[in-house]
Amino acid sequence: MREPMYMTEVTVVYTCPYVPAEWIAAHGLRPRRLIPLPVEGESVVVRAEGLCPYARAFANDAVADNADGIIVTTLCDQMRRVYDLLVRGTDTPVFLLNMPKTWQTVGAQRLYVDEVKRLGRFLVRLGGRAPSHEELVHVMIDYDTDEDRVPCTSRKSPGTPIAVIGGPLMQRDRILFGLIEDCGGRIVLDATETGWRGERRPFDRRRLIEDPLLELADAYFSIPDASRRPNSELYEWLKVELTRTGARGIVFHHYVWCDAWRSELVRLREWVGLPVLGLDGEGYSETNPARLQSRILAFLEMLQ
Ligand code: SF4
Repeated sequence: MREPMYMTEVTVVYTCPYVPAEWIAAHGLRPRRLIPLPVEGESVVVRAEGLCPYARAFANDAVADNADGIIVTTLCDQMRRVYDLLVRGTDTPVFLLNMPKTWQTVGAQRLYVDEVKRLGRFLVRLGGRAPSHEELVHVMIDYDTDEDRVPCTSRKSPGTPIAVIGGPLMQRDRILFGLIEDCGGRIVLDATETGWRGERRPFDRRRLIEDPLLELADAYFSIPDASRRPNSELYEWLKVELTRTGARGIVFHHYVWCDAWRSELVRLREWVGLPVLGLDGEGYSETNPARLQSRILAFLEMLQ
């Protein structure tokens, strides 16, 4: 994607896939989806029992990033908690975007559109300018021609085709992909929140021209996730993607304190009809590659 012309150098960071980057860019600000490393050093949110390490790492990385604004969503209770901690722990303006849990009703979709509009007012307060119809269309088309949008993470062949499913992965935990490949697997689908599953669908060009904000909201609101109620569209999406990619096994990852994805493991096992290796990351220290590797190796041997 060519780098859009931003009106200002104001940077807004977020991590949740339901935050529309095009909306921020159309206001002339620089959107940055932050996948936490996490960074070392001073913490705004200290380590606390029961606090999701991903949510905590996002908060600390967002503050360390010296961004001009931070967007948090109510996708889960942990993120709500992090919002409260950020408001108390930093002077950086923080916006809480309310995500309706349900998604099938017109009311829920309207609520999301209203939240995106409210986000627009926050962006104006940060120094942005509300975009015209044409400006929004222009930015959305620019983003939609992004050649980096690819569904798979692995270019290597051969190897046993594996899908990785779960919540988000911190950057340091992406070591998981290399370990799977080292053990003889081939990643054909990254269905984590920070992977292909967290990408919006391509825009419908006709609807984009007619009503760009509605099309933007619809494309983001339909991203499948375990936290949606009902989350049947997650399984519809998985059915299509698992068939398309020919995955023969699933590595399922979630962080220990993530209720949404932990409870999904049981349901996935019953539903999927493929072998599943469940991994729960504690997330507060470097992933132990040796221990992980032996579990992945045993799983891949079983698939031979
Ligand atoms: S990993 Fe789970 S608990 Fe943590 S922020 Fe994501 S959805 Fe929330």
